[in-house]
Amino acid sequence: MPEPGAQPQEDSEAETFAFQAEIAQLMSLIINTFYSNKEIFLREIISNASDALDKIRYESLTNPSQLDTGKDLEIKLIPDANGKTLTICDTGIGMTKADLVNNLGTIAKSGTKAFMEALQAGADISMIGQFGVGFYSAYLVADKVVVTSKNNDDEQYIWESSAGGSFTIKRDDGPDIGRGTRITLYIKEDQQEYIEEKRIKEIVKKHSQFIGYPIMLHCEKERDKEISDDEDDEEEKKEETTEGEEKKEDDEKPKIEDLDEADEEDSKKKKKKTIKEKYTEDEELNKTKPIWTRNSDDISQEEYGEFYKSLTNDWEDHLAVKHFSVEGQLEFRALLFIPKRAPFDMFENKKKKNNIKLYVRRVFIMDNCDEIIPEYLNFMRGVVDSEDLPLNISREMLQQSKILKVIRKNLVKKAMELFEEIEEDKDSYKKFYEQFSKNLKLGIHEDSTNRKKIAGLLRYHSSQTGDDMTSLKDYISRMKEGQKHIYYITGETRDQVEHSAFVERVIRRGMEVLYMVDPIDEYAVQQLKEFDGKTLTSVTKEGLELPEDEEEKKRFEEAKASFENLCKVMKDILDKKVEKVVVSNRLVTSPCCIVTSQYGWSANMERIMKAQALRDTATMGYMAAKKHLEINPDHSILKTLKEKADADKNDKSVKDLVMLLFETSLLASGFSLEDPAVHASRIHRMIKLGLGIDEEDIPAESAEAPADEMPPLEGDDEEESRMEEVD
Ligand code: ADP
Ligand code: MG
Repeated sequence: MPEPGAQPQEDSEAETFAFQAEIAQLMSLIINTFYSNKEIFLREIISNASDALDKIRYESLTNPSQLDTGKDLEIKLIPDANGKTLTICDTGIGMTKADLVNNLGTIAKSGTKAFMEALQAGADISMIGQFGVGFYSAYLVADKVVVTSKNNDDEQYIWESSAGGSFTIKRDDGPDIGRGTRITLYIKEDQQEYIEEKRIKEIVKKHSQFIGYPIMLHCEKERDKEISDDEDDEEEKKEETTEGEEKKEDDEKPKIEDLDEADEEDSKKKKKKTIKEKYTEDEELNKTKPIWTRNSDDISQEEYGEFYKSLTNDWEDHLAVKHFSVEGQLEFRALLFIPKRAPFDMFENKKKKNNIKLYVRRVFIMDNCDEIIPEYLNFMRGVVDSEDLPLNISREMLQQSKILKVIRKNLVKKAMELFEEIEEDKDSYKKFYEQFSKNLKLGIHEDSTNRKKIAGLLRYHSSQTGDDMTSLKDYISRMKEGQKHIYYITGETRDQVEHSAFVERVIRRGMEVLYMVDPIDEYAVQQLKEFDGKTLTSVTKEGLELPEDEEEKKRFEEAKASFENLCKVMKDILDKKVEKVVVSNRLVTSPCCIVTSQYGWSANMERIMKAQALRDTATMGYMAAKKHLEINPDHSILKTLKEKADADKNDKSVKDLVMLLFETSLLASGFSLEDPAVHASRIHRMIKLGLGIDEEDIPAESAEAPADEMPPLEGDDEEESRMEEVD
């Protein structure tokens, strides 16, 4: 209450703000969509309250005075049938004025749009929490929402909105709430069930039983009470004071006894009368022990599912769970879950990592501890409850804590066990792999200790597995006699790599090629290098060794000798465009291909790097794939070209054809052309040649490129070319 004569009312005049456009859109969608499962609003509001309590707990670790108001960390639900409201209070961190403005309406979140898109694609409104916009679900049941909030760093403010595109904020001169947030929902006329105690209890049990703070329901109760006439006045006065909770429980018992006695006394017709006594009582709705402290044999899959959902806001059950404890020098219990789906923003850089909640002896400490699990496992959700860490541990202490390092090591170990368990069931593993293969590949990159284990979890399509995928172990089991390497090709799509010239001979010889078409494969395979003693060998890089018999070796040596001159001529023509030109042992039907050096970038890597905005041109310069042109000595084009070159190494048509061959190979090998227009004009010249069109017949304006950029082609007679140059 404002003190008389203190702040005049003008100071707390309401300011109006417009909701950010997408949020306004979302709100009207929530209000106007026909949707029956409205009860999830309570789960969302309670989950926010629980988050706010987590935050103040965390702040208090380094600054205990943050908790000075002395209030218990709890959530209170207060239904008011007369006022037709439901109020949800928490003693959490609260919001400053700026927080209210930003968090409840003006700052755009990526989830807003993503959620609306998901809805259009058939998603359910109950999925709202996953998209980080759960607060607005309040408008499923309320036509007006009033949020009173007090953060330690600011005064108390009121946020209010009846949707319609705007909200107001004003300073609150009303009763001081100390610290935390009080959300009053003005329940819609047709949603009054959400004010009923029974319904609220049911919803909390269903959706919020595993919240880590007490959820107290403010219940109005009534009891019969007998008083003698002369006591009447006194008793009535006493009733008004039965508000304190402790005291109330105390006087409850004697009163029941009173009633019993009264019954007896009644029969003796003493001068007594019965009155209805109203009293309120806070009932705790979530008394279940933390699930991880229980024996896993006594916990059903449904209970794990419920816990997982309340932990993560997920609308589906988890895919797999591991519940374990570690004892000995160090003690902790943990629950690790794998979700069915990757979150929509898993690889968003700024995403806060709050996937594993850290508890110390049942008290929540924090959920953003980076050190507790490596980044590549950031899709796993769960809880860790340590017996050894101090309660007042700070982030800085945690970073150095040996205990945490041991916990982390154990979590990774258990995660690997869990993956291997899923592996046993083909269908589950397929689901898991579809969602999280990127994480495993990141793990190959990041986690050298577990690299071997993770490599065992990888799966690839290959030239032999059709729609299925194969593990490296299974690949090895199918290896040909004499095969020393695991062959793979990286590229943009399966279709592209499958039909690439590089895999021709390898497949022709009955060997299997793994298709790696995920950009991250390129990085992972560089780290992996080998599996079970077999090197991973790219079929697109130089020095591809294929097992050969003596006959083949001899033929290859002969081809090398006879094409030596052509290779030299071609290298001279292509000059700096390639490192070298060599005879190939990998091609069957293609005339040539571009391979890259063993340790440089592949075509695929060059493509990925070009696509990354952050590359600097200098790096591109020295890292850009070192290209080798390999030619197929059995191919008619090369054979004829060789004859021409051997006859006259200055033959102009040879030069043009070599350029064309080179550019076409670049494309076929997955590179992009530096100057596609020049290539196009070369091709157009070819087409004209094929159609028998004479160059002079074409009016100059319609030529695709200036004549001097258009190299003359084979068959153009020398004189004509010279005439063009004179023109
Ligand atoms: P999310 O909880 O996923 O962040 P919500 O839409 O549920 O998204 O909530 C939006 C934000 O509003 C929260 O991130 C938080 O900053 C703030 N907020 C909501 N409820 C509370 C509360 N009870 N106490 C403090 N802050 C809250
Ligand atoms: Mg929320």
